Amino acid sequence: MTGRLIVLSNRIPTEAQPSGGLVVALHDCLTQRGGIWIGAAAEPTATPDEGFRTVATGAYTRLAFDLTPQEFETYYLGYANSVLWPLFHRRADLMDVQPGFAEGYLGVNARLAGLLADFLRPDDVLWVQDYHFLPLAHELRRLGVTNRIGFFLHIPFPVATDVPALPEAAVLPDWVAGYDVFGVQTRADVERLRILFDRNGVSGALGDGPIRLRGREVLPLACPIGIDAKGYRETAAKSAGGDRIAMPPQQKLVLGVDRLDYSKGLVQRFAGFGAYLSARSGDDPQATLLQIAPPSREDVDAYQDIRMQLDLTTGSINGEHGEIDWTPIRYIRRPVPRDDLAGLYRRADVAMVTPLADGMNLVAKEFVAAQDPANPGVLILSHFAGAAEQMPQALIVNPYDAQDMAQALRRALTMTLAERRSRHAALWKAVDDEDIGWWTRRFLNALGGATVAEVA
Ligand code: ADP
Repeated sequence: MTGRLIVLSNRIPTEAQPSGGLVVALHDCLTQRGGIWIGAAAEPTATPDEGFRTVATGAYTRLAFDLTPQEFETYYLGYANSVLWPLFHRRADLMDVQPGFAEGYLGVNARLAGLLADFLRPDDVLWVQDYHFLPLAHELRRLGVTNRIGFFLHIPFPVATDVPALPEAAVLPDWVAGYDVFGVQTRADVERLRILFDRNGVSGALGDGPIRLRGREVLPLACPIGIDAKGYRETAAKSAGGDRIAMPPQQKLVLGVDRLDYSKGLVQRFAGFGAYLSARSGDDPQATLLQIAPPSREDVDAYQDIRMQLDLTTGSINGEHGEIDWTPIRYIRRPVPRDDLAGLYRRADVAMVTPLADGMNLVAKEFVAAQDPANPGVLILSHFAGAAEQMPQALIVNPYDAQDMAQALRRALTMTLAERRSRHAALWKAVDDEDIGWWTRRFLNALGGATVAEVA
């Protein structure tokens, strides 16, 4: 690649030294090779600037574009988070399709395409992040832009038979085909993508190579995102976050860490933990589930519903199983500082990462990185987390089946040190080998024109 690397994401980091996996990876990548990072301004404004605004310069440049309050409602809260998010997470029943949402979404993407078409130089490579910008390349192609454009979908690719629930279903393949490389988290996502094209009558879509549609060629690429594994391991070893847990020594700590989102399967997880407690015999260890779940997207109704359900479930399980000196579920909605969180991961005996649908789930990888290899804890991982493809040595569970989760908990809490070590060593290898640097290289190699075989 000789041109500039231009990354587009919904948010740009505001601090000089950002934290958070993806943000750090892109920050490091752009710092090394230079480039430009474009994202929405932190707050909507009724008096938007027409073009991009420079927010920071240095090793690379950060540019912001403004959203009006109405665009924020329709494009971001509306179409992106109340239509695409539930559909792509297999919850079409939670979609909230409202007049104006699609127009807002398409409008923001068309406006950005116009700005980018003027801004791009012929050799520039554009890397678009996530479901907020699916139609962007299609819009750019309509404006005659021929640059290499890649896309990475952080969330699951939808099931082809669910896609008709999207009013814009007919154009989704054209949106995808606007890109040269369409990166997704797992091989299962690539399969779903190919099936969607096949169902739309595109011949050859089920093969291995690029998919052809109306004169365009798009390469679907399974490119699982990773974390800064070694960095996280060091942070966790230094963190005092675990020292704040006061529990009797014989009691085991089971940890859950998630944004409060219906896709995370929190109600089902609590039910699985409740089933363990109900079936527990005198020999089975006593365990406390510490669930950290800061609310997100509270302006969207479905998020208020899940919060209420979780309050009810927590109260019911604690009421049934609690004792005067023991509360089985400790449920915390406050955000926890990242460093403290790393220490909690290290201190935990078991992590329950049991989403109903998840593009990857970085918590699973952070937990493995944080654990002490000499005496590691056990990861219980949902079959429906993208991470399960890379992490088969976890105890893989069906989050819809409370008994299955209860059995996995029992197994995790009574597992021998030798088995814990051997499972952890294999998991650490996967997390460390395919870390965040690997992810960036793999994607950019593919986008630079290399064949999939070369980057694999
Ligand atoms: P999602 O992107 O859907 O929220 P992931 O598991 O992929 O799910 O990523 C979540 C990220 O947010 C992880 O890096 C995790 O450490 C972080 N995180 C989750 N909960 C908290 C919390 N309570 N405080 C701080 N960071 C959190």
